[in-house]
Amino acid sequence: MSVPAAPGDATRAAAERLLRRCDELAAVSASPDGIERVHLSAEHARVNAVAAGWLREAGLATWQDAAGNQWGRLEGAEPGLPALVLGSHLDTVPDAGRYDGILGVVTAIEVAARLAPHRAQLPFAVEVVAFGDEEGTRFGTALLGSRAVAGTWLDGWWDVADAAGTTLREASTAFGLDPAAIADAARRPEDLVGYLELHIEQGPHLEAAGRALGVVTSIAGARRFAGRVVGEARHAGGTPYAKRRDALVGAGQVVVALERLAVETGGIATVGRLQAHPGGVNVVPGLVEFSLDVRAEHDATRDDLVARIEAYARETCAARGLGFELQETHRAPGVYCDAGLTESVVAGIAATGDDDPVQLFSRAGHDAMAVAAITPVAMLFVRCEDGISHHPAEAVTLDDVGLGLDALEAAVRDLARRRSAAR
Ligand SMILES: [Zn+2]
Repeated sequence: MSVPAAPGDATRAAAERLLRRCDELAAVSASPDGIERVHLSAEHARVNAVAAGWLREAGLATWQDAAGNQWGRLEGAEPGLPALVLGSHLDTVPDAGRYDGILGVVTAIEVAARLAPHRAQLPFAVEVVAFGDEEGTRFGTALLGSRAVAGTWLDGWWDVADAAGTTLREASTAFGLDPAAIADAARRPEDLVGYLELHIEQGPHLEAAGRALGVVTSIAGARRFAGRVVGEARHAGGTPYAKRRDALVGAGQVVVALERLAVETGGIATVGRLQAHPGGVNVVPGLVEFSLDVRAEHDATRDDLVARIEAYARETCAARGLGFELQETHRAPGVYCDAGLTESVVAGIAATGDDDPVQLFSRAGHDAMAVAAITPVAMLFVRCEDGISHHPAEAVTLDDVGLGLDALEAAVRDLARRRSAAR
């Protein structure tokens, strides 16, 4: 095994440009104090326009699809060939970092720019996509952009509303899109070769292994729930303990138990949002609403964890005279990366000097999960500092960005060689 010291000068210069582009996109934010860019917002339109400019500069033809995703296309040896798609997303969580999704998009654009002078040797077209909604920050429904592309859009989504009460249908129309045309965003499998996504790891495994890059074996599929613990709101002073049905105490007991149940099962469970009602300082909470996110490397493990959480919560709440309700709001099947495409990612990383790259599964969801419904997918992870993500402190190094760029380009070239040889 050999691990690369550092990328060459030309790559370092390109990596500097990629980091500057991440900074430029980070400045497009709905919040003055941090980065926030949600689906179908004015900021979404602005970053699409900026990305489209970079794509055209790189020599690609550009369009925005019916779901608000930004695309670019570089024809291969002849026009109309099926496309290898490179990309990621440009939307963010609230108070986000500047690399989650974004690094994958700017790197894909740079790879396309590097390939453009050699397009005559490409046995496929190369497309770049910047998805408009991966995180689900605005409407609570994740992967809207890539689900539209995969043709797995659900009509029920149109009536989902954001915090201000604006429905997805209204927001799409205001953005200049035609909801009736959403099916136009779907791509046909026969027009695609595959989908390759570079993304920051969002975890500490590569850093711990001392490696800049890693190959993703599979992407864990999350299940999300809206939970409710129902008790009775009463006077905080006047109600003796024997008569209290405190929904927050019950919910708290469930939240604390999650950690133990998750570790026992080998999965991951998180309550990221919890609200007590009516929310008076002198009122026993009569109702608690909370979110629950559950994931694991394998779907069976995840489902087992959900069942254990539910059983524990029902029993615990019943013992306290509380009601417990759990409604599923999102379920994504875990996705295994394609073996053939992954070989090219391994070859791409090997070209940067690491000929035995770390293999890891993704604990975080990615657009690749949705795209896998229509074409083979593979992913390459770039180390991020301390594994921090969904946070302003998200950080990558110039060298790692350069190595990721070289590896992604080499992966595409490897795939092109294999496909040319097979023809
Ligand atoms: Zn992401």
